[in-house]
Amino acid sequence: MLALWRKIRVTGRVAEPAPPAPPVEQQPPRARELGGSVQLRHVDAGSCNGCEVEIGAAFGPVYDAERYGARLVASPRHADALLVTGVVTRNMAQPLRRTYQAVPDPKLVVAVGDCARTCGVFRGAPGVAGAVGDIVPVDLEIPGCPPRPEDIVAGLRKLTGR
Ligand code: SF4
Repeated sequence: MLALWRKIRVTGRVAEPAPPAPPVEQQPPRARELGGSVQLRHVDAGSCNGCEVEIGAAFGPVYDAERYGARLVASPRHADALLVTGVVTRNMAQPLRRTYQAVPDPKLVVAVGDCARTCGVFRGAPGVAGAVGDIVPVDLEIPGCPPRPEDIVAGLRKLTGR
């Protein structure tokens, strides 16, 4: 335990310096009701897992999305917003609708990655029901295949305004 404490003390802070906060006009209108923090339920609607790796990095100690008020939660009933990755497969279309319905109002949806935005490389595949916006209303898109952790953090900061 003492060795761990020493290591923490020697390592110090590893988070990237915080860039300036996003201008208020970049905030989706309904995000202004969030009051500076957003609780997010992640839904993998059919991702290759590349976007999940980058989301993991965005919430890790280097990019540290939580310091801007964004937090992942375990239930849609505890969430303000859905963080959806991947193209929506036929099997995930209904679970995504149900998860959306379980989020209390006012709710937001963030489409993370090109598959979630436009079906990306999976466009036209037989098991694909559509992009996230074809199934539930989308408030914010984060482009990239996969998006970089700093782009995910920048997108989430548009929700929190911090
Ligand atoms: S956007 Fe790229 S990394 Fe993300 S799920 Fe699609 S193929 Fe994978």
